[in-house]
Amino acid sequence: MKDFMLDLLRTFSLKYFTRFKVLIQKPRLILFLAINFLIIWGFYWFHPFMVIPALIYTSVFFLIALSDWLEWLLRRLGDVRHVATNTEKERLNDLFDGVLSDTSIKQDVAPYIIDSASINAQAIGRTSVILSRGALEHFSDKQLKGTIAHELGHIENGDTVISNIITVYTFVYFFLVYIARFILMFIQSLFATNFIGDIFKFLITLLDLFFRIVSFVCNVIICGGSRTREYKADKYAYNIGYGAELTSTLYAIYDMEISDKKGLIEQMQASHPKVAYRIEKIEQLTRQ
Ligand SMILES: [Zn+2]
Repeated sequence: MKDFMLDLLRTFSLKYFTRFKVLIQKPRLILFLAINFLIIWGFYWFHPFMVIPALIYTSVFFLIALSDWLEWLLRRLGDVRHVATNTEKERLNDLFDGVLSDTSIKQDVAPYIIDSASINAQAIGRTSVILSRGALEHFSDKQLKGTIAHELGHIENGDTVISNIITVYTFVYFFLVYIARFILMFIQSLFATNFIGDIFKFLITLLDLFFRIVSFVCNVIICGGSRTREYKADKYAYNIGYGAELTSTLYAIYDMEISDKKGLIEQMQASHPKVAYRIEKIEQLTRQ
């Protein structure tokens, strides 16, 4: 709890001011926060005196979303660990710092590892790039650099911070919806045998559906579709001088698509556009 409070304080301090840059990067985020403020205020039936608490809640959720604490929590929940063994450190640390030094990222970003056989990479928040054991096993150093450059692109483009912000607000609403659902289910159980029960059943389904649609739409509205984000991260890797490295990574995945390693890349493919299209785009950039 003490660490959490300190972290919140640091979020306020000037040194940590850079994390608010996401508001300038993604101006639509301001609209998102304004809507969230209205929703929270709405829970108080827009009572004039309740503007202040609603503002405070909106800000606190926002600060939590930007905090290192949330990033730590997400790493914990994702079963992510730091770079630990000597072989991991020898291979990864210099390689990672090399790519990082070619970016304009100011904060200390670090590599992390997830002990999974599947080939995957992911960035979380502002400071974590996570590589799977499968990626370390199957990618050459050059291909790892391409992967890291792409993930740093997600961080620098603000995608990962946005995702944290949406996660926090979604969680808050999930909690509120959960309470509403509980009340509705209670009422429904009182009228289980007649049409009023059916109406409440319908309301619950509607609430669940609404919740799912909202979190999906938020992401698309602020960041654009997931494909756009991926192409932008690829372009970022190209712009900082890792076009050849990333192309090599993508060709490795491209080959795996029709090999016995197909199952290992499924997770990565679910969240990214077709590998062939990504190669096409980056080869177009190289030709220019
Ligand atoms: Zn990506």
